[in-house]
Amino acid sequence: MLPEISSAMLVVTHRCNLECRYCFVKQKDEDMDLETARAAARFLAGNARRAGTAPAINFFGGEPMLRWEGLLRPLAREIRAEGRPFRLSVTTNGTLLTEERMEEMHRLGFGLLLSMDGARGVQDANRPFHGGGGSFERLERVIPGALRRWPGVTLRMTAAPWSCGGLFESIRWAEGMGFRSFFVIPDVFSRWDGGSWGALEREVMRYAAYVRSRREAGRAYIRFSALEGALDDADKLRTAEGRASLAARGRAENKCGLGAGRFASIAPDGGIYACQELCSNAGPESPFYIGSLAGGVSEERRRALMAEYFSERPRGEAGCGGCPYEGACDGGCAANNYFAAGRVNILPAAYCRWKRLLLRAAERIKEGEG
Ligand code: SF4
Ligand code: SF4
Repeated sequence: MLPEISSAMLVVTHRCNLECRYCFVKQKDEDMDLETARAAARFLAGNARRAGTAPAINFFGGEPMLRWEGLLRPLAREIRAEGRPFRLSVTTNGTLLTEERMEEMHRLGFGLLLSMDGARGVQDANRPFHGGGGSFERLERVIPGALRRWPGVTLRMTAAPWSCGGLFESIRWAEGMGFRSFFVIPDVFSRWDGGSWGALEREVMRYAAYVRSRREAGRAYIRFSALEGALDDADKLRTAEGRASLAARGRAENKCGLGAGRFASIAPDGGIYACQELCSNAGPESPFYIGSLAGGVSEERRRALMAEYFSERPRGEAGCGGCPYEGACDGGCAANNYFAAGRVNILPAAYCRWKRLLLRAAERIKEGEG
């Protein structure tokens, strides 16, 4: 028997107040109602009780704060009033946060994940409101209150071909605001030409030079977990044991679980998917659909997706020849692979280039440490 699902991305709406130029959500006027959310919470709590673990919900969208009054707040209040040991968090674009809402979220024990691309020029180019107008100014007002309540909150950024020349400036801006960590991934679905990729490389290398100088001076710096991971990879890739441990770490069960572990995503209509990225883009015909709150979870569908995942080694769109990760690859994101190539094991070229770029940046940092 596969583990029962006790942790979920609860996709509470397919609507959003922003119109990000790289958005993967198929925005539509579809919300989860409170009864479905309650059913999801009961489903997760029951499974967690049997497994002897704590249930968890991350509210996701679209923009989940559009459902603050109608769903997040009443559900969280009920959960807390009943004393249920839920871990609650929200992934938000931040524009609908207010002091009052943040105060109550904090009191209710919410964790926060903030999606934002950084400095004004980049944020406004990438993440405008519907109908136009940048979102930077509103966020700039909200961030100090967010950081006061969640000092460890990570900024989740996307690097896009048209604005990636401002990446390092955005990282420094985030550091100046008080963020201690960020995460960035390139938009793997856009077209990267030599010019835009070259700009991204320069920006990552500027960050590497900054990290190197901070480390040499024994000073703190704003951290990027994927680059910290690449520093570790650079050592591991040198030995057979290290390569084997990287290959094992890359398997789905050690990442999101691909629907076969404790984690899944629940769509507004109660459909259960292996990944939140599929909730607005696909229906029961998708291999990522693994059941529903009403009909139960299908062990067969969960196993079929895992079987597809393990049916072949991951490989890049353009092959893997000469890639330092060959034989030790993490396989990228199965959902993104599926969107880009229709296969869970074929990685978009931009992702492969990104992995190699981070490794080069890590090696640059290590050179300075002899
Ligand atoms: S905030 Fe998220 S859901 Fe909204 S437009 Fe941007 S990427 Fe899409
Ligand atoms: S990162 Fe891409 S090119 Fe490198 S081994 Fe993995 S799939 Fe192949």
